Amino acid sequence: MQSADVVIIGGGIVGSSVAYHLTEAGCRNVVVLERESQQGKGSTGKSMGGVRAQFATPVNIRMSLFSIPFFRAFDEVVGHPSGYRGQGYLFVATHERHLRYLQANYERQVSLGLKTVALLQSEEVVRMVPQLRSDDILGGSFCSTDGFVDPHSVMRGFMLRAIDQGARLMRSAEVTAIERDAGGICGVRTASGRVATRTVVNAAGAWGGLVAKFVDVDLPVEPLRRMLVPTEPFDKIAHTAPMVVDMTTGFHFRPEGMGLLMAWNDPEETPGFKTNFDPVFVEKILTRGVDRLPCLEEAEVNPKRAWAGLYEMTPDHHPILGPAHGIAGMYFANGFSGHGVMHSPATGKIMADLILKGTSDLVDTRLLNFERFAEGRLLEETAVL
Ligand SMILES: Cc1cc2nc3c(=O)[nH]c(=O)nc-3n(C[C@H](O)[C@H](O)[C@H](O)COP(=O)(O)OP(=O)(O)OC[C@H]3O[C@@H](n4cnc5c(N)ncnc54)[C@H](O)[C@@H]3O)c2cc1C
Repeated sequence: MQSADVVIIGGGIVGSSVAYHLTEAGCRNVVVLERESQQGKGSTGKSMGGVRAQFATPVNIRMSLFSIPFFRAFDEVVGHPSGYRGQGYLFVATHERHLRYLQANYERQVSLGLKTVALLQSEEVVRMVPQLRSDDILGGSFCSTDGFVDPHSVMRGFMLRAIDQGARLMRSAEVTAIERDAGGICGVRTASGRVATRTVVNAAGAWGGLVAKFVDVDLPVEPLRRMLVPTEPFDKIAHTAPMVVDMTTGFHFRPEGMGLLMAWNDPEETPGFKTNFDPVFVEKILTRGVDRLPCLEEAEVNPKRAWAGLYEMTPDHHPILGPAHGIAGMYFANGFSGHGVMHSPATGKIMADLILKGTSDLVDTRLLNFERFAEGRLLEETAVL
């Protein structure tokens, strides 16, 4: 029978970052259990790879202020490329209320130390992306250090380095039970055997709620389908363009390969483990897309190249990080609500701090604990894309 100081359930970007940060801090006897035969088959491999500090809540801004410089230095620190491209996020405002919202967020972001964000006049927005329909644009905000990473490469980088530092990755190892004794957690059972441990981290992404049930916890994490549509090669938008977010509809796009990658949050989507791409979505997204970016009329889309994955939503769109109250040795790193790639470095660091020292100075971790739901301390993040 194997044993480990810490067992991490889930080998996506979050589990990999937790493994990296634990081994980096000297806790080397770490086992990561991944049910698939390869890493990245969950949400990480489906992500749009966007990273941004332009959030509304201090805790999300702080997590990005740690994570984005981490991505920039990733190659040097972790020894593997992150694919970070600081092309920025451009929020495009078309209502007075959007401007007020961006102004309030801007002030909060700057007060927390973000130096690369600016509020823009409408002419500056149009200068940045001249192809936008601009008759109703009132202004915007732009942060030059926001951008994109390659989620798969970040995940592999974290894991390879963690393995170099002592961690073990077990694939095709679905966890089927978590065992407890009088002292708390005492092991996990998988299809291929048992691992004895006193510490378990639930990093099972959209399946985190199912894993929490193994310890009789009702974790409020709901899977929600999210679809992305790439264009065929398309040269009407510069490949150096930022992620552009139309605040009117929530439609957003960024350059990807020789074309664009488009996203839109369909309000008709309902929770569930649906990962099939619905071709009806193509027309829905293009309607919003062409409205803001008329040249998209000329773009070709092959629905067979589009895909769907799962967001892992919590009621307040913030992750649940930290120990499970009353179950010694059980930890959650769940519910990223669509921000798990960009916040993976901060999450790994916070989890390693909490497991090894019981506290972290990266954020006020009480804000993100599981008890906040029972105690009615919900946060509110409105900058959810
Ligand atoms: C279409 C789309 C676009 C997105 N765009 C962005 C973006 O631009 N920026 C951003 O930051 N985030 C984005 N996200 C969200 C981001 O992808 C997730 O928040 C992130 O990948 C979560 O990482 P994870 O490691 O927690 O989960 P996953 O990558 O899902 O990893 C969880 C792993 O746990 C494994 N697992 C589950 N149950 C078990 C079990 N019982 N035993 C063993 N293993 C198990 C799964 O196989 C999986 O590999 C996007 C998501 C989608 C779907």
